[in-house]
Amino acid sequence: MASDLYSRFATSFAAHADKVFIEDEGRHWTYREIETVAGRLASRLAALGLAPGERLLVQTDKSVETLILYFACVRAGAIYLPLNTDYTEAELAYFVADAEPVLAVCREASTAVFARIGGDGLAVRTLAQLFADLPEAQAPPVPREADDIAAILYTSGTTGKPKGAMLSNRNLASNGEVLIDYWRFSSDDRLIHALPIFHVHGLFVAVHCALFSGATMIFLAKFDPATVIGHMAHASVLMGVPTFYTRLLADPAFTRAVAGPMRLFVAGSAPLSADTFRAFEERTGHRVLERYGMTETGMLTSNPYDGERRAGSVGLPLPGVELRIAEFESGRELAQGEVGIVEVRGANIFRGYWRNPEKTASEFRPDGYFITGDMGLIEPDGYVQLVGREKDLIITGGLNVYPAEVEAVLDDRADIAEAAVIGVPHADFGEAVVAVVRPAGDAFDKDAVRAALRAQLAAFKVPKDILTVDALPRNTMGKIQKKLLRERYAGLFGG
Ligand code: AMP
Repeated sequence: MASDLYSRFATSFAAHADKVFIEDEGRHWTYREIETVAGRLASRLAALGLAPGERLLVQTDKSVETLILYFACVRAGAIYLPLNTDYTEAELAYFVADAEPVLAVCREASTAVFARIGGDGLAVRTLAQLFADLPEAQAPPVPREADDIAAILYTSGTTGKPKGAMLSNRNLASNGEVLIDYWRFSSDDRLIHALPIFHVHGLFVAVHCALFSGATMIFLAKFDPATVIGHMAHASVLMGVPTFYTRLLADPAFTRAVAGPMRLFVAGSAPLSADTFRAFEERTGHRVLERYGMTETGMLTSNPYDGERRAGSVGLPLPGVELRIAEFESGRELAQGEVGIVEVRGANIFRGYWRNPEKTASEFRPDGYFITGDMGLIEPDGYVQLVGREKDLIITGGLNVYPAEVEAVLDDRADIAEAAVIGVPHADFGEAVVAVVRPAGDAFDKDAVRAALRAQLAAFKVPKDILTVDALPRNTMGKIQKKLLRERYAGLFGG
């Protein structure tokens, strides 16, 4: 198994040279065309001073050109650093100071911002400038060692400053290899790619699955249910965040016949509610395959391709991933069925946080396991269930409440479209459990919901208050932003 990432790319580029790799609104790119442009672009990057190991910061809209830039960067042996286009100038200044890129590629409108914050040491280009009059000569791939860093992705970080997760050639190559095998990817596949490509899900999981297997990607600028539905007749796989699936279900045009030609729907990056899982199966006959991973680790667990895909579970540890549940404070391994922190080890686990050895040291156990920050348990047959982030754990009157357990009861109700359960400061209890819900239709009745919760949950888990909202705040990956909710409702019980 190649652990030099570009070598793995090159194997596919050669094996599938004349096949269409990317379809993008009428344009078709074969594997050979993509590699040729990547090679020429790598020459340009070298001319701009991007040496192996240097950082390339990319903050652009999703496009085939951006993807080619990623391939060219790996080919040049440099470190790819993609950023969400939503970041503000203050945040960008932090990333530039922290990562010290030699080149920033950005939207036209941001060139002045990067010039200002980068000073003389930073070359700034738009994609159009970068691709204009590319040199004919293709720079040869720069060989890399397994542990050399291929990318740095800053994690969303619910607390403190974002941290740069350093992902090595081995991390990325090994995870891609495992996934194509586990999810049965082949060169016959046609993947609908509607995710952003500044995040692990859209960039590594989706793109590497397609590239490593010689598949074709239908590359869409964003997720639009009607467009995605329109592609399903000639596609085989969709990878999405759970909101893709709730939005597809909300569209009456999404029928069993529409989903019929597809072989696989994958969900991840945020919990897929059991309700959505069941509604999807009822509508289409497909069981969504849910998997779990994170920026620092790549993919960790997955429901099986052939075996039971279980609602509300993230499935089994992937081949090569060691996973255990431990007590957060002591690190003591817990028995099967007990709830604790999820810890993992394997070739896919990142090399540490960029220029932050203290943080890196504090997130690993002495025996090399990475402390994910997710709370969960292992069922008797090995399936992993997550119950929420450790930071979202609610301690009320000294008792632990896992938000996911309360959310599952709420999500199950026909009169609730979506729910988030948080802890807010409370004079007597320390924290009080509060539910924030978006009602579905007019039938919503707070007292009925409370009565149902009382019937199903221990009294200390029943929310002290149920608040209704028009929408829950979510980030681009579909994750509910609980931190915002906690801030918004901090004074609910007098602070
Ligand atoms: P990120 O680093 O932005 O990819 O976020 C990783 C986090 O997303 C994980 O630590 C989990 O808390 C969450 N996550 C990813 N996949 C799932 C899933 N299938 N179910 C629940 N949470 C998930």
